[in-house]
Amino acid sequence: MNDAEIKAWQWECQAGDLIKKMEKRGFKACYASTGAEARKIILDLVPDRGAVGLLGSQTMNQIGVYAHFRASGRELVDHATQLKGLGPEEAHDYRRRIFLAEVMLASANAVDADGRLYNIDGVGNRVAAMIYGPNQVILAVGMNKVCASPEEAWRRARQTASPMNNKRIGLPNPCTKSARCHDCQLESSICNYFTIIDRSKPVGRINVVLIGELLGY
Ligand code: SF4
Repeated sequence: MNDAEIKAWQWECQAGDLIKKMEKRGFKACYASTGAEARKIILDLVPDRGAVGLLGSQTMNQIGVYAHFRASGRELVDHATQLKGLGPEEAHDYRRRIFLAEVMLASANAVDADGRLYNIDGVGNRVAAMIYGPNQVILAVGMNKVCASPEEAWRRARQTASPMNNKRIGLPNPCTKSARCHDCQLESSICNYFTIIDRSKPVGRINVVLIGELLGY
């Protein structure tokens, strides 16, 4: 086996343990060894009816899921493309549409080895809808986001995912200079809501597709 094959083997073994723990927490979970495989699984999971919510996941972008739905003609709640140019009140109204979507497609900032999901959000609509609103939530999560402990999961969310998301969006926060969090407490911070999802209720509403590739932030 070469190094890549050994890494793939390690991730698949870790995912097998993690899936069992996630299922005990009420999540549906499965493993895809590649982004292409994950894309097919996710497209098969999305129901034919109702609006599809695309909520700011670089992982979903990287595996081509968002591009698929943008070209599909389906009714979308698509923050990346539809919020541009809206004033604060219009943006607020648009963001609330996600709560009535049939399905939401997103990711998590980190997962701990016991299967809990960790997220940091700026406005709160992404984490709120993950918890309540859309009938189904499908999360694409690269195995690079799986952390050994809750402390490591928070460190990953705060010190890796948040600075990279700040950089991607082009915000003037100090993490975009140093690539680490300064707990800035600025109005422009995107780190306002910190959530742990411990279980899925109803059982099976949140569906996690673990992927054996380095994906997302
Ligand atoms: S709290 Fe501020 S400095 Fe830290 S990652 Fe968030 S935006 Fe950047």
